[in-house]
Amino acid sequence: MRRERVAPLLLILTAACVAPAQSASVAEPDVVAAPAPSPAPSVVQEPPAEPAKPVDFTFTGELEQGGWMRGDLGPGQWTARLGEEEIEVDPDGLFFAAFDRDSPSTLVFEATSGNLVYAKEVIKVAPRDWDIEYVDVALRPRSSSESFMKKRRPELDAIWDARLKKTGSEGWKQSFIWPATGRISGRFGSQRVYRGEPGSYHSGLDIAGGSGTTYVAPADGVVVLAERDFSLEGQLLIIDHGQGLNSAFLHSSELFVREGDRVQQGQPLGRIGSSGRATGPHLHWSLKWKNFRLDPLLFLPPQP
Ligand SMILES: [Zn+2]
Repeated sequence: MRRERVAPLLLILTAACVAPAQSASVAEPDVVAAPAPSPAPSVVQEPPAEPAKPVDFTFTGELEQGGWMRGDLGPGQWTARLGEEEIEVDPDGLFFAAFDRDSPSTLVFEATSGNLVYAKEVIKVAPRDWDIEYVDVALRPRSSSESFMKKRRPELDAIWDARLKKTGSEGWKQSFIWPATGRISGRFGSQRVYRGEPGSYHSGLDIAGGSGTTYVAPADGVVVLAERDFSLEGQLLIIDHGQGLNSAFLHSSELFVREGDRVQQGQPLGRIGSSGRATGPHLHWSLKWKNFRLDPLLFLPPQP
């Protein structure tokens, strides 16, 4: 993999970092290390007494829209960023980060440990050829009647709150397994365009595993939401895998776990059903890292 070495003063390129759609703020990704202990006035002519040194780091992953990366910076107290997103780095220097469905084609990864060392890499995020269907039908207005929104708002708040919970799970370190097998009845990222007006894209992977089929945890985690009657999701389960990564499973007919439960990879979580708004029994699995939506297929080996 290509390593970028840059001048010690850590000039940060912001031009290549297109802000993700959901973040309105144009925060400068100023990842410069904490101020030096000794007074080091900003003098342009003189280099600082101890310039930060670049270090090599390793990472692997699926570097494409909806994909992810896992890396190892080595031990240290790291502060890291991918584009404008802050990355949590564990004490061993291991981290996870991911790329939104609509990620820009390059993102700058940067990390600093104190003011001593830094790592930097320009990540090229391959674009995807999403399944877009153009239909000659008008986009139906969303049902947002007063009574619907009265039930819906607290549901959305609960989902939002659940996804912010930090559980310390280390599931993000694992290679994921299939929660259930079956025909793929819906792919992540697919989208319809209604007479030029794009509808929202499909936010997860649909597995038509058959009604009543047990599905299991794709990786270790902690249950942060287990709800039985949400308007669209039906029986909804959200599992936190740590480091900002979480899974949501929709439309179950039964849930075997409760909020707060620690689950292990492969542990049965519930049964596939068609609760909520579903045309037939299937497991809808959404994966998110922070506010980015990810493609579960990029976390999985070929279906067994
Ligand atoms: Zn779905």
